[in-house]
Amino acid sequence: MDFLRPASWAEALAAKAEHPSAVPLAGGTDVMVEINFDHRRPEYLLDLQRIGELHTWDADGPDVRLGAAVPYTRIIDHLADELPGLALAARTVGSPQIRNRGSVGGNLGAASPAGDSHPALLAAGAEVEAESVRGTRLIPVEEFYTGVKRNALAPDELIRAVRIRKATGPQQFSKVGTRNAMVIAVCAFGIALHPGSRTVRTGIGSAAPTPVRARAAEEFLAAALDDGRLWDTRGPLGPAVAGEFAELASGACNPIDDVRGSAAYRRRAVGVMARRTLGWVWGAYRGNEGRGAACA
Ligand SMILES: Cc1cc2nc3c(=O)[nH]c(=O)nc-3n(C[C@H](O)[C@H](O)[C@H](O)COP(=O)(O)OP(=O)(O)OC[C@H]3O[C@@H](n4cnc5c(N)ncnc54)[C@H](O)[C@@H]3O)c2cc1C
Repeated sequence: MDFLRPASWAEALAAKAEHPSAVPLAGGTDVMVEINFDHRRPEYLLDLQRIGELHTWDADGPDVRLGAAVPYTRIIDHLADELPGLALAARTVGSPQIRNRGSVGGNLGAASPAGDSHPALLAAGAEVEAESVRGTRLIPVEEFYTGVKRNALAPDELIRAVRIRKATGPQQFSKVGTRNAMVIAVCAFGIALHPGSRTVRTGIGSAAPTPVRARAAEEFLAAALDDGRLWDTRGPLGPAVAGEFAELASGACNPIDDVRGSAAYRRRAVGVMARRTLGWVWGAYRGNEGRGAACA
């Protein structure tokens, strides 16, 4: 196995163009596990650790441009105001050691349906900045996941950054696992209210071959909020609205039975998380952080 250690982004792109089979290495918390267990024996490893710009972010505009290798710990410590949903999701990843190394770029590169950043990225609205020596393209995150552990990157492309919309309303993330820490999600749910555009976005993890949005639930809720003038009045949400939202979110799942949980359990759990997180974000939107007061 050859170890390629580019010192700059331009060198990394050139190396990937020359060796398209080279496996990028960011924090290594997925890649090294695969190599150690002999699940993967790449001809080339492309180490991105020396490329400083991948470890920084720019939060000046309406988006945060998050370098692909920024570790979760830094998102939690520095970006919880701009990216509250992603920061909440980041808190649930692995252990402190994993959060110190693991990155959103790596989570996207691995494209596991159970990756914790995906529901938060889908809910916030994000684009993946993919680059090669041929140029740069922005891929809406919902188009990035193409199958189980598959993504839309071409063989010569690398993720440079992820552009994530800064929160303009409350966001939440919920994850079901077999214990509280160091656990792969049985399923997960993210929700973001976007009061400026009067839209709602969601993300579901680990309940379909790829992370997905619950689009019917989003549209239903946005229409219900509009019809009831609730964006303006910030009044309570009726239980029927929360119940229908949960039902539609559950219907967006296409889960399988596996060692972590049955398909039926996942559908049910996603509905429960949808209802619960809706209560939390609506409570926050109403200016009442008390979690029980959101629904009538
Ligand atoms: C003990 C343990 C616990 C874990 N717990 C969780 C958890 O709770 N939730 C969760 O979501 N994940 C978990 N993981 C998985 C892992 O930590 C995450 O997926 C993490 O986000 C990977 O980031 P990384 O920087 O370490 O990626 P790496 O391992 O370096 O790379 C992961 C994949 O992305 C590719 N890649 C990396 N950077 C780029 C780039 N710039 N461009 C293109 N491709 C790239 C790599 O080639 C590889 O295919 C856990 C892992 C371990 C070992």
